This record gives sequence, structure tokens and C-alpha cells, in this order.
Amino acid sequence: MIHVGINGYGTIGKRVADAVRAQPDMEVVGVAKTRPNFEAQTAVEKGFDLYAAIEERKPQFEEAGIDLAGDVEELVEASDIVVDACPSGIGADNAEMYREYDTPALLQGGEDSEVVDGSFNARSNYDTVEDADIVRVVSCNTTGLSRLIAPLQEAYGIEKVRTTLVRRGGDPAQSGRGPINDILPNPVSLPSHHGPDVNTIFPDLDIDTLGLKVPATLMHMHSVNITLEDEPTAEAVRSLLEDERRTFVIPEWIGLDGAGAIKELAQDAGRPRADIWENCIWGESISMEGSDLYLFQAIHQESDVIPENIDAIRAVLGEAKQEESVVMTNEAMGLDTSLGQIS
Ligand code: NAD
Repeated sequence: MIHVGINGYGTIGKRVADAVRAQPDMEVVGVAKTRPNFEAQTAVEKGFDLYAAIEERKPQFEEAGIDLAGDVEELVEASDIVVDACPSGIGADNAEMYREYDTPALLQGGEDSEVVDGSFNARSNYDTVEDADIVRVVSCNTTGLSRLIAPLQEAYGIEKVRTTLVRRGGDPAQSGRGPINDILPNPVSLPSHHGPDVNTIFPDLDIDTLGLKVPATLMHMHSVNITLEDEPTAEAVRSLLEDERRTFVIPEWIGLDGAGAIKELAQDAGRPRADIWENCIWGESISMEGSDLYLFQAIHQESDVIPENIDAIRAVLGEAKQEESVVMTNEAMGLDTSLGQIS
């Protein structure tokens, strides 16, 4: 059994905790929280041991009637690996603690690639992180792009990637984020940080990205143009992407016209938290003009990185080969069923 600690129990951390618990070869040692809010209460109700991330705040947990199992350092010491899902920048601060206890750790996409030993995407560079101390599971957008780029590069070669990322302003619970009624070029200057981030996975890839932010919370939308070295048919590209393990090529008949309908499908399919772990690629949008591929894909920012974190745990600890891990993760989470079967 791999003993996994989770430091930071918010949007990503709570999903990672549930996904770890679902794996046949892993168990959750506990989760660390800074304060006794509804998520701390949920963690306790789910039977996760709760650790205090900040020692001085322990009395707050006592006042709220929430039992603690110890301090975050004890969690780190008791874990074979820690998934750090703290807000951006805090993971980098925590890295020193993980090194001190000699516990490998996964940081998330909000952290700077400079602070880690390697960046990770299960489809693209699984084998590169074994025995690394601190690894970064790349962001939701970079994960979505990497899953698309890897098979295309292998099958056809890639000359250049150009992508416009229409990003949700915030997650559903982030009431302070925006815009509320605007469409923002974000960042205004090119390239957006996404292209360089994809280069942490594909160092030699020629990629330009543009970013926008819109008043939405559901998903990100990518408008993708990739100049391939070969000239496959659109049908061949579609079939290639349908064969991938973490893509959902949306069939024409199904009536999914946007992120809202995809989320509704995820709810109907009984997905936990209406999560969509796969890239959602509109089949009709897959088009070839000469060697130029065009398509639209939607990315569920809160959940596409969750199976990647699970695979990264096995990859860092050398516990499974890529294919074995991805199959195990998908089966345990239910990723091979529901949405995927509909196509
Ligand atoms: P979040 O704010 O939802 O959750 C972070 C949690 O960590 C909160 O519960 C917060 O109270 C807690 N926390 C704060 N300081 C802490 C500390 N010192 N020790 C322990 N816990 C602490 O954030 P999130 O959206 O889950 O993001 C976490 C990371 O994942 C970031 O790097 C982010 O960029 C990345 N990420 C987020 C998304 C997304 O869309 N939400 C997608 C992919 C990657």
C-alpha cells in the first residue's frame, strides 16, 4: 500500500483524496487544513484524519468541535508521498518541509516550474519523474493541451501549435473572482504563460498561446490550430483521439452544445461533483485544411488533473509502468465508463 498525505484540502485536494481512496494500491494517511470550515467538517465525516497545517490555529478546530490527528509535519513524516494542493506559491514554501522529512511531494500547476525537479503529464512524460523529490503536476490547461499534443506528435509530427484559451474567470466557489461582465484579453501581451508551461512537458515544441478570461465558472474552452508534419484526414485524427484513454470525442447526435450541457451530462452520469476528467473534444470541430488541424476542446479545470496526480504518485515511487497505472487509475475512478461509453 502507498501511504498518501494530502496537504491543502480545497478544490484539488479534496478530489485527490477521494481518488486516492478509490485506488486498490493506495490509502490516505490524512489531510491537512488551515482552518475549520465546511471542507474540514466534510473530511472528518468521510473518515479522513485531519491535521493542522498551522499550529497556532489549532484552538480554532477545538472551538469548532473538530478533532485533529496532529500537525502537518506528522502527516508528512507518516506518508510515503505528499500531494500538496495548497494555493499557488504555498507549495513552493512547503517544499523545504518535504525535503526535510525526505518525503517526495507532488505540487500543483500554480507553482513555478523552477522550484521542482520535474513537471508531469501521464500521457506525455510518465517515465521522467521516477525517484524525483518534488514534482509538479501541470495545470488544468497544460494537462488538456499535453493530452492532445502527445498522440498527434507521435502519429503525425507537429510543426507548430497555436491555441487560444478562453478561460473561466473562477471556480464556482470563488465568489471574489471575475470578470462579472466583461471579456478580458488575459494576459494582454503574448504569449500567455500556457505555451511556455507546455514546453515544460514538450521542451522542443513550437507553441504560441493566447489567453482570455470570461464570466464563466464551468470549464475552459480551447480553440486549437496545430500544423502537422503529415496531412492525415480529419477522420483519421478523430479516430486517433477517440482511441486515447482520457479524451471524450463528443458525437454529433448527443446535443452537447457547450460547457453547461457537458456539466449536465456529468451530473446525469452520476460523476462525483459532476467532474469531467477527460478532454471534451467536439467531433464535428475536428477539421483538416492541408496540414492544419483545427478543433475545439473543453477542459474541466477542477478535475482533469486528478487522475494525473494519481499516476504521478506511482510514477515518482516507481510503483507501476505508465500503461498499467493509467488503466488502474481510470478503472478505480470510473473514468472508462459513463461519459466515455456514450460515444
Ligand atoms: P483552493 O483554494 O481551492 O484550495 C487550497 C486549500 O489549501 C484551501 O482549503 C486552503 O485553505 C488551503 N491552504 C491554504 N494555505 C495552506 C497551508 N499553508 N497549508 C495547507 N493548506 C493550506 O485551491 P485549488 O484550486 O485547489 O488550487 C490548488 C493548486 O492547484 C494551485 O496550485 C492551483 O493553481 C492548482 N490547480 C487549480 C485548479 C483549479 O481550477 N482550481 C486546476 C488545476 C490546478
